[in-house]
Amino acid sequence: PTMAHSRALLVLENFIGGKFVPCSSYIDSYNPSTGDVYCRVPDSGKEEVEAAVKAAKDAFPIWSSKSPLERSQILKKLADLIEHDLEAFAQAESKDQGKTITFARTVDIPRAAHNFRFFASSILHHVTECTEMPSMGCVHYTSRAPVGVAGLISPWNLPLYLLTWKIAPAIACGNTVVAKPSEMTSVTAWMMCKLLEKAGVPPGVVNVVFGTGAKAGEALVCHPDVPLISFTGSTLTAQRITERSAPHCKRLSLELGGKNPAIIFDDADLSQCIPTTVRSSFANQGEICLCTSRIFVQRGIYSEFLKRFVAEAKKWKTGNPSDPSTDVGALISKEHLEKVRNYVKKAQAEGARVLCGEGVDPLALPPGNQKGYFMLPTVIVEVKDESCCMQEEIFGPVTCVVAFDTEEEVIQRANGVKYGLAATIWSSNVGRVHRVAHRLQSGLVWTNCWLVRDLNLPFGGMKASGIGREGAKDSYEFFTEVKTITIKH
Ligand code: NAD
Repeated sequence: PTMAHSRALLVLENFIGGKFVPCSSYIDSYNPSTGDVYCRVPDSGKEEVEAAVKAAKDAFPIWSSKSPLERSQILKKLADLIEHDLEAFAQAESKDQGKTITFARTVDIPRAAHNFRFFASSILHHVTECTEMPSMGCVHYTSRAPVGVAGLISPWNLPLYLLTWKIAPAIACGNTVVAKPSEMTSVTAWMMCKLLEKAGVPPGVVNVVFGTGAKAGEALVCHPDVPLISFTGSTLTAQRITERSAPHCKRLSLELGGKNPAIIFDDADLSQCIPTTVRSSFANQGEICLCTSRIFVQRGIYSEFLKRFVAEAKKWKTGNPSDPSTDVGALISKEHLEKVRNYVKKAQAEGARVLCGEGVDPLALPPGNQKGYFMLPTVIVEVKDESCCMQEEIFGPVTCVVAFDTEEEVIQRANGVKYGLAATIWSSNVGRVHRVAHRLQSGLVWTNCWLVRDLNLPFGGMKASGIGREGAKDSYEFFTEVKTITIKH
């Protein structure tokens, strides 16, 4: 880059022991909506991770001995500070990730603040267990304590949202953390570090090390003084993390990919179902682990559904993410866009038909976004259940629609993938809704809605979608070590 160019770049630094520390080498980070390099992210490795783990270890005795109430007040303050800067965070998230400013303003950043506020509250309300054994003159009770230094690794699709979903419970429970956000979306985590001191988070409690998965991520996973790893990302990476952490017998929480079905029965209220299913397919460019990518529609309403669904999908405006009227922003990277497009090509080669979007409709982009990584919401039909588009996670604005006849058949087909994260059922028959929900292999089942969450309840996937659950009680259990104490009187 020219001098003028390099001066304009945003340069991030690691946050270790309460201080920003430069790194010896950096990697480029792109603005997905323009294709320009606009930011440099530390390319951390073993040395930086070592320093961060040491800072976290040093901070542990003081932080873990604070009362839950003291920690709760600090978390609440941090939530307030993020909310105070909501607009700046939303702008940064949109620029860094390619997501629309509207999504960042209404989903990502409010939820990041809420994560801190939620765990600030829930940490005050846990009770441990106690049993009596009068014949032995004994009482037993459980006691929970923070584990130590938690390693937190997060993906690029909901950057601050998912990172804070880990940091908040980890520190609320009294652990200290070393976090590694995705190298493609590091900016908002770096911005959050600037607020920690003001919130009252002592130095070393939250350390953030930026860099790639292969270098910084693995160094964290392999560090002997990090007894637990909370990871959100792809199933492939989770396999690698499981292998690399196995010699240390680490505690793992793995939130992974999905291939989520929507099952639409002929008694569904289509006026609710269609706009919600368009949203569940294409929100955040389809880059949400919970997005719908296989839509099973009962044969009697198949053609009507398809006609209305495609018409609704076509209304979604793709373009400049910073325009508040845009519905679909840019995909995360050039490589990812290529990968998503290839799925559409493979489907066509297998004989499937693309009803709208990629390769069918013109994509008109503003002059400043010509080199961005954009793709129109794409609907594929006449695709076989065995096709890679029906089996593999695409993680882009692509959804497949197929017809089914019976309840029994659709349950089998919906379960016929390696994943099991989230499913959606649309029907006005209460009995059927319960029946089908019980039989779906899926950590989450939404009926007649999508993405409505109560953070108190378990979140996570079955099969290749993950191991463990996160939520008020589940995160508390993951981030603490339990002990059973017996007292004879
Ligand atoms: P990814 O697995 O490529 O990367 C996730 C994180 O892991 C990044 O920070 C990356 O740098 C790091 N990483 C990569 N290799 C590593 C290694 N060997 N050791 C340690 N860390 C490593 O995933 P992604 O492409 O960033 O995110 C998309 C994936 O995340 C999709 O599969 C999506 O379904 C999944 N996801 C799941 C959930 C959920 O809650 N279940 C939520 C969001 C995203």
